[in-house]
Amino acid sequence: MLKRKPIVAGNWKMNGSVELVQSIANAVQNVNNQDVEIVVIPPTALLSNVVASGVVAGVQTVSEYDKGAYTGEAQASLVKSLGAKYTLVGHSERRSIFGESNEDVANKFAQAQANELTPILCVGETESQREQGQTEEVVAAQIIAVIDKLGIASLVKSVIAYEPVWAIGTGKTATPEQAQAVHKFIRDLVSKYDAEVSQTLQILYGGSVNESNSELLFAQTDIDGGLIGGASLKPDSFTCICESA
Ligand code: PGA
Repeated sequence: MLKRKPIVAGNWKMNGSVELVQSIANAVQNVNNQDVEIVVIPPTALLSNVVASGVVAGVQTVSEYDKGAYTGEAQASLVKSLGAKYTLVGHSERRSIFGESNEDVANKFAQAQANELTPILCVGETESQREQGQTEEVVAAQIIAVIDKLGIASLVKSVIAYEPVWAIGTGKTATPEQAQAVHKFIRDLVSKYDAEVSQTLQILYGGSVNESNSELLFAQTDIDGGLIGGASLKPDSFTCICESA
């Protein structure tokens, strides 16, 4: 069976500093795992610092617009030219706080790929959606919005991050079994469109991943690494998580 390269990406959200970039870069150099791709996703204002530190960098969102009179937006082409490799799209905080719809997210995904940034498409259900048995329906709609707009081939140069909203920043992680079940659902869904794409697609888990739970989560068949929030701000925790991938 094909081996997918694991990714561990640290989503700093609106945290971090110039000093933290250096501490994380130093810590990451000592990670004893050649097989994992380590990515740091700082606030956009720190992008150049991360690039200069030699760590693979991403941003947390990009504008769906190309350029022009959009005060405050981050332009995908500029982010790319500064050295970013990845951008998150559709993180649950963007969806819930900033009102991004599945269609907005698909537009950002398109803008990222048009500028050769690899989108990390974040999907996941809220607690009440899970309780009402809507997890698969919600996650499918979030992914199908992209496939409908851009075609299944657009998933080739992309990554999906499954992040149950109820597990983000709450200390309440999905069990490895719960996470694996949704990851398998995602892979099966993609497989209905294209079996090969589904086998190469990297699907990350996110939501209260830390150095104590990462190993078991990453050992699941369909989990190809993680998107790490809080623990990615602590150099020691982040390097342990990277080593467990
Ligand atoms: P968390 O955040 O690890 O702090 O739960 C994950 C994320 O929001 O990407």
